[in-house]
Amino acid sequence: MGAARAGIEIVTGDITRLSVDVIVNAANERMLGGGGVDGAIHAAAGKELLAACRDVAELRAGVRCPTGEARLTPAFGLPAKWVVHTVGPIWHGGGRGEPKLLASCYRQSLQLALGQGAKSIAFPAISTGVYSYPPSLASTIAVRECDGFLADNPSFEKILLVAFRQQAADILRQALGALGTKQ
Ligand code: ADP
Repeated sequence: MGAARAGIEIVTGDITRLSVDVIVNAANERMLGGGGVDGAIHAAAGKELLAACRDVAELRAGVRCPTGEARLTPAFGLPAKWVVHTVGPIWHGGGRGEPKLLASCYRQSLQLALGQGAKSIAFPAISTGVYSYPPSLASTIAVRECDGFLADNPSFEKILLVAFRQQAADILRQALGALGTKQ
């Protein structure tokens, strides 16, 4: 447990600037860009990213990536090599499967990164912006899933949990500190 936790780092700032193998995008089901971190990633990666997203197969009209799942594209103009696009749940109070869906975002993103041979990944605080997931609840899920993944995959080097603002970093730090002491 302790060793796994050592692989998780909380950083504050703009995820698009990070030189890691994979950065994760909090996308929407259409995968054609949006606001928040999605807009920042598309702006920094360049137009090729939009074209790559458009090439991802639609499962049904307007849905390239269902909520709770993840899809991989190259990262084009970003310092990262790959972008994993994942779609977090919209918070409706917690009774519509939101915790399971959010956990699935982290798990699927990490598995895609692993499958690509990546050793490092950076996550934004998925669902905690426009999708309104309470940051403390979301942070608990994020650190639990990342810790579990590192315990299972000790050769994976680093998971960065990126807070855009200091307050979000404090909440993530609290969740990391509480890891293993409660469910
Ligand atoms: P969602 O729709 O999943 O809620 P948002 O993009 O609205 O996605 O917000 C997710 C989180 O990403 C928020 O905590 C927001 O503050 C953060 N965020 C926004 N821009 C960036 C960025 N450039 N780098 C890192 N985090 C960001």
